[in-house]
Amino acid sequence: MSSESFHNLVLSTPETFPAFPYARPYNIQTELMRHLYEAIESRKVTVVESPTGTGKTSSLLCASLTWLHDEKNRASKGKLDDVATGDDWVSVQTRDRLRRELEAQELEYEQKLAKARRKEADMKSKARVRKKPKPNGDESRRQSIHEDASFLPEDDDDLEDCDGMNLSLAVRVLMARMDPHAHNEELEPTCTKIYYASRTHSQLTQVVPELGKLKIPGYTPISSLSSDSVSGQGVSYSLGKRKAQDDLTSSCCDDQKYHQSRAVSLGSRKHLCINDELRDRVKDIDEGCRELLAEKKENRCPHLPPVGEEVIINGFRDQILATPKDIEDLAIAGRLSGICPYFASRKAIPQAELITLPYNLLLQKSAREALGIDLNNQIVIIDEGHNLIPTLLSLSTVHISLQLLQTALNQVTTYMTKFRNRLNPANLVQLKRLLAFLDVLAKYVGEWRDQRVEPRVAQSGQLASPPVNIDQKAQQFEFQEVLTPTELIERMGRKVVGLNMLEIVKYLKKSKIARKISGYAEKLTQEAEKELELEVASANLKRRVSGSRKGIVPPLHVIEDFMVALAGATDDGRISFTLTNSSGPLLNAKSKSSSPSSVEVKYHLLNPAPHFRDVVDEARSVIIAGGTMSPISDVQNQLFSHLPPERMTSFSCGHIIPPENVLTVAVTKGPSGRELDFRAGKQGDPRVLADLGQIILNFTRTVPGGMIVFFPSYKFLNTAKSAWTSAANGGYLDKFAAKKKVFFEPEDQAGVESVLHEYAAVVSDSSTGALLLAVVGAKLSEGLNFADELARAVIIVGLPFANLASAELRERMRYVKREEEKCLRDGKQQTIRKGKDAAAELYENMCMNAVNQSIGRAIRHRNDWAALILLDQRYSNPSIRTKLPKWIGGNNLAVPEHFGGVVKAMGIFYRGKRRKG
Ligand code: SF4
Repeated sequence: MSSESFHNLVLSTPETFPAFPYARPYNIQTELMRHLYEAIESRKVTVVESPTGTGKTSSLLCASLTWLHDEKNRASKGKLDDVATGDDWVSVQTRDRLRRELEAQELEYEQKLAKARRKEADMKSKARVRKKPKPNGDESRRQSIHEDASFLPEDDDDLEDCDGMNLSLAVRVLMARMDPHAHNEELEPTCTKIYYASRTHSQLTQVVPELGKLKIPGYTPISSLSSDSVSGQGVSYSLGKRKAQDDLTSSCCDDQKYHQSRAVSLGSRKHLCINDELRDRVKDIDEGCRELLAEKKENRCPHLPPVGEEVIINGFRDQILATPKDIEDLAIAGRLSGICPYFASRKAIPQAELITLPYNLLLQKSAREALGIDLNNQIVIIDEGHNLIPTLLSLSTVHISLQLLQTALNQVTTYMTKFRNRLNPANLVQLKRLLAFLDVLAKYVGEWRDQRVEPRVAQSGQLASPPVNIDQKAQQFEFQEVLTPTELIERMGRKVVGLNMLEIVKYLKKSKIARKISGYAEKLTQEAEKELELEVASANLKRRVSGSRKGIVPPLHVIEDFMVALAGATDDGRISFTLTNSSGPLLNAKSKSSSPSSVEVKYHLLNPAPHFRDVVDEARSVIIAGGTMSPISDVQNQLFSHLPPERMTSFSCGHIIPPENVLTVAVTKGPSGRELDFRAGKQGDPRVLADLGQIILNFTRTVPGGMIVFFPSYKFLNTAKSAWTSAANGGYLDKFAAKKKVFFEPEDQAGVESVLHEYAAVVSDSSTGALLLAVVGAKLSEGLNFADELARAVIIVGLPFANLASAELRERMRYVKREEEKCLRDGKQQTIRKGKDAAAELYENMCMNAVNQSIGRAIRHRNDWAALILLDQRYSNPSIRTKLPKWIGGNNLAVPEHFGGVVKAMGIFYRGKRRKG
């Protein structure tokens, strides 16, 4: 086979996946893995839906690592053919020599990792008698950090900050030494990688154990590779029980049966810093670490090996790669070795095959650059993909409150007063501009609030106009307003229009002035606290005072982010002003529950796509996976409308549960025969409430165990609750309680845990079960697992469309509509999709996303069973039905003509389960 043919060889999709960890995958799992393998090989972007309990994580890992294994074999074979083709003696000898070299390198590397495994096992066994590494910091170091001189801005000439990371020269030198591509770095293999991202570390924690169960074949000598083996068809997989991870201390030669994938977990300093002295001392660990790195030798962080002794950190890097570790394991391993796991994990990236990381590290270009992540030709898996769009939108969002603005203004004023004589003229000019911006913005935000809340006060102190009540104000001014950056700057007036925002932002970044000013403010606060401490001499107070600020981002850093966003704003950037009170935002006068007191200013984006585009453009293949991704068209419309159709694909997996384990019903009519319609305007109608009360009561008589009813909003839930309390309105709450103990989802997060705890206790202890009345999209509709008896029925009341009183939502809808019209004009889109304009489609998709997440709380494993019931005649509409997950919607959804049909279907379903159970 020629070199061309090896490099261009298309890996054919395997029929089976012997690396799958469990005895035999279900057909739907094999179908999913085949789809994933094919998508990776053909460089596609795919959205896959695999319901909870169908082994999604195992399927994702198995398919992608099987492809990686085949790809590695293809690449090895290709390398041989690169040096010489042909069957003459010289070509054969040359290939043989290279083969031996490659095999020796591979073996040597595997042995090195096996050694690292043994070393780690050894360290673990000694850990019991080992003392925690003592940092060698002392009080004088703290003093030096707080020397006043350290608060002066950096000179322009000191820095060439091209990556926006605000690193000092000293840190850059250090980072350059640690750069895996630095010239003095020992040569290590690099390989194609799978970047596996999820929203949180706790979600990623589930990946490592699944990885350990995979049966990816061990090292395959290149000499034994054939074109068949490279195509994934002929690889010899040996089955057998995998060794436990902790036992993997033997050399690769003893353990060639299965390959231990080289994996690394990436996290922030917040998760990985092991310098306890620093953690206790500062609230901003990133900043504290940077300061330590810039210190002289003896004052540097004791957990970072001295410059020139990279071999120490490389040894720990090998330990990281030798045995997969989640973020907690990594921090523990760092403490055991005394070496910083934050920097060591970054060093492990080039050799890792699987890199797990939270969304923010993958999605932000600056974070990728700082980590040295190059997605070019790599595989990206985004798990819990229903969170992707909200995360993309939120990563660029900056919130400022009026109070924060005023604090920042005070800090800059104080700083300038103190350092005025020590600042050079260039610094002074820029600081005056910053002060002018803050001053004008604070005044504008204050006036915006006063227009809506308080009567104006004239210079004389007299009221300029008589007081008006809040409802009258609401008629004059909306409580939420959305502006483009240009509109905001124009409204702020002459002083700001004339400012060169880009220049100020450049100054902020180069001088690190936000850090300096915040640091000085912190110092003043600490001094004030010390005085307070002396006066009060109360250790408790001290803890309260210092603890209260921990983890809070300094105000000026937020202002800097806001200014950076304003200066670089794109077409889809907006600034929204929202009146708030202690319960949160007020969208209109009707929503107020106490007097408005502040304003939230928010920079946000309307379009998530541009911020994901470079990931899609660079990566070989992108897989967006989730338990509930329907409606899949929503993800495609919002993120991938720029892709050619041939690069985009999707897969909605069936469920592994047998069909008799789920009953899905759309209920269009109530017991009275009236059509069910729970639109916002009808939710207060006594007849609607009576129908709903009677339906739930009927269900409490049939459904065993736990039953969860999701309302579209707290408002509707509260309306129903108060109506049902009265005997005149049917007294339904008492009637429910006679059948099942009733619980309500609390509006306050603090109460959630106790409600869940009690609900679960009642379900498990009583024969009648419990009824939980909750709200779609609130605290219980995502991320919670209501398996088995906890939810034998999930009922969705109505369609939870978002509140159109939100000016932000209206602006987003206007934006997508304008974009669609542009595409129609430019001929990029032929017609309005599915007869609905993009705004209506987005609005409906947001609603169905929320419904699907709530439905997904039940049926969590193969033997689980439950009824999923959708109350509203609109669920019989085909466009809504197609937006349900495949295993629920379409023909799987029963739509009885009368309520009697629903009761009958439920009776049969639960009787069948009782008989079996
Ligand atoms: S080098 Fe590592 S351990 Fe030391 S301060 Fe920085 S993050 Fe923490």
